[in-house]
Amino acid sequence: MQVNTTEGRVPVDQLGRTLIHEHVAVGFPGWWLDVRQPKYRREDALAQAVDHFAKLHDHGVKTVVDPCPMDLGRDVELVALVAQKTGLNLVCATGMYTEGMGIPYSFARMDVNEIVDIYVKEIEDGIQWSGIRAGVIKIATGEGHVTDFERKALTAAARAAKITGLPLISHTEGATCGHDQVDIITGEGVPAAQLLVGHSDGRDDHEYHCSIAERGAFVGFDRFGLEMIIPDEVRMKNVKKLVDAGYRDHVMMSHDTVHCFLGGLPGGMTQEQFAARVPNWRLTHIFENVFPRLREMGMSQADLDHIVTDNPRRFFLAGQEAERLRHL
Ligand SMILES: [Zn+2]
Repeated sequence: MQVNTTEGRVPVDQLGRTLIHEHVAVGFPGWWLDVRQPKYRREDALAQAVDHFAKLHDHGVKTVVDPCPMDLGRDVELVALVAQKTGLNLVCATGMYTEGMGIPYSFARMDVNEIVDIYVKEIEDGIQWSGIRAGVIKIATGEGHVTDFERKALTAAARAAKITGLPLISHTEGATCGHDQVDIITGEGVPAAQLLVGHSDGRDDHEYHCSIAERGAFVGFDRFGLEMIIPDEVRMKNVKKLVDAGYRDHVMMSHDTVHCFLGGLPGGMTQEQFAARVPNWRLTHIFENVFPRLREMGMSQADLDHIVTDNPRRFFLAGQEAERLRHL
């Protein structure tokens, strides 16, 4: 089994320690229109990202997945440059963001199968004529309810996952709609094990986490350091509870860091102002602060290694396993 990275296919056994959800750069639709912001300098964004990502070598990380959807300023060639300059494996995504925060108009006019064709083409031939193949599929839902457009995008993503065997990484708002995502994906015949329900850590709700894991999906505790959403102590308590409940195989940990907000943050905050509000929101936070604390709380190093090494590998293998079962 091989995983598509920016530099070509890598055997799944060579992924090693993996951060499953981090972004080199993100820009919300229209980011290029805010002339109050300093002009975007791609070379500066690259230098900053390389500086940050290179620190991961000190913590044994080999692979980072950047599940930037196609409509959030995705720049896979920039991601590839970070991979080349750091020696890390970087994995890019196909797929769309939420209806409210993405750019759905052109896709709204397509039927499901046209979107499937685009996703599959980005996985098999490459993203936007770059030759860089997508290695994961992004899905996203807004808060509290799944719009018709999002349902179409999720259905297309599930069909593309079934064709290609790729895993699906989701965005949820307020840790809602995780079960709708599992329903839509499994409704298309894709096993829940191929889905990571992202940002499930946004709500202090052990029952919700258990219920997602029980259905077979991965539960994303993937915003460590973003403490204005929820304190990390709550995230850690819920990771420990989920492991204690027997669901260690379903925990995924990451930070959802963004190393460059193209055109600044929505709402006009500068990156420096935002960084000052979330001082721990950086790529090494889990290894420097969260792991030691989880060990104090009684988790073993084997548990932690399992979560950041074995679980990402199992996630990428899930599609292949599903294919094997279909042919039994
Ligand atoms: Zn993200």
